[in-house]
Amino acid sequence: MSDDSDIAVSVDGTAHTILCGHCKAKVSLQGEIDTDTAMVGCADCDNWADQKKAFQIVGEYITSEMQLALNRVMKDTARKSKALSFEGQTTQNKRYRFIV
Ligand SMILES: [Zn+2]
Repeated sequence: MSDDSDIAVSVDGTAHTILCGHCKAKVSLQGEIDTDTAMVGCADCDNWADQKKAFQIVGEYITSEMQLALNRVMKDTARKSKALSFEGQTTQNKRYRFIV
């Protein structure tokens, strides 16, 4: 059984469709959502995880992206200042199996 509707996570009230981290296609659902047997993933890449794990990975990705966005702002700020410097990561260097 599959469901054609998007599988999304809500961040600050905005729904973000979960995508396969490998091919960036929308993930699909196997089984009944919100059950222990629900599987989320991409058939093309054979990239599957149970629903709970998939949402956990997406959560880590979102947290990481927000940190990187903040770092980029700080880097820009530091660049304009002689007194400040910024050393830190500004681009994603980790691959996530599920993204938004
Ligand atoms: Zn894929």
